[in-house]
Amino acid sequence: MRLILLGPPGAGKGTQAQRIVEKFAIPQLSTGDMLRAAVSAGTEVGKRAKAVMDAGKLVSDDIVIAIVSERIDQPDCAKGFILDGFPRTLVQADATDAMLKAKGLDLSKVVEIRVDDEVLADRVSGRYTCANCGAGYHDTNLKPKQEGVCDRCGSTHFKRRPDDNRETVVTRLQSYYKETSPLIGYYHAKGKLASVDGMADIDRVTTDIEKILESA
Ligand code: ADP
Ligand code: ADP
Ligand code: ZN
Repeated sequence: MRLILLGPPGAGKGTQAQRIVEKFAIPQLSTGDMLRAAVSAGTEVGKRAKAVMDAGKLVSDDIVIAIVSERIDQPDCAKGFILDGFPRTLVQADATDAMLKAKGLDLSKVVEIRVDDEVLADRVSGRYTCANCGAGYHDTNLKPKQEGVCDRCGSTHFKRRPDDNRETVVTRLQSYYKETSPLIGYYHAKGKLASVDGMADIDRVTTDIEKILESA
């Protein structure tokens, strides 16, 4: 299964991707995570991406396309993958098409997670992850069962992203509407699009996505 998760920052793409990974045993390819890894490793790509990401703007198409293209050639992607946060522009969508076609592969589904703009700032500013295993949490919406201890790995270390503040959310939403939302029509026209109500609670969204994937 080759799946794209589409939605604004804070829609729940990462949260749902982590659950699909467990259920379908295919990797989550988050360009945001890959870029953050490049920034911490201090690579050339990381150096070029850091300021752009901190400002909430989009990293250049060339950089992200190259990262994804390399990643989907890895053996763990042979059975499929979930693209989380990519493609984010029409240029990236065309590149994805070309990449898959060159490998004789097809896209299974594009799932759009729809959320009202009003909740996004709260979702993004309350978000944090386990520093050890990457499990995602939220200050009020999704707390660990035992306060300060990761449900999945027991770690007591958590981290927040430097770009997860109310100021950058505005810029990120603008990028989403300008550059990414045209992909909804693009995939609809290809007969690939399905939408879920991302305002529902997290488990409900998961069930809705699973239903779509079972019929894909
Ligand atoms: P994205 O990857 O689309 O930017 P995340 O999956 O990181 O978004 O979710 C953003 C924050 O909102 C996280 O802290 C997550 O726990 C929380 N969240 C995700 N889905 C929901 C939901 N359906 N209802 C309430 N909070 C949610
Ligand atoms: P979110 O989950 O909040 O939507 P991401 O983790 O996907 O955020 O992305 C964080 C930042 O990384 C983006 O604001 C952007 O600067 C950069 N980025 C991630 N994916 C892409 C992409 N496909 N194209 C361009 N920039 C990207
Ligand atoms: Zn953990």
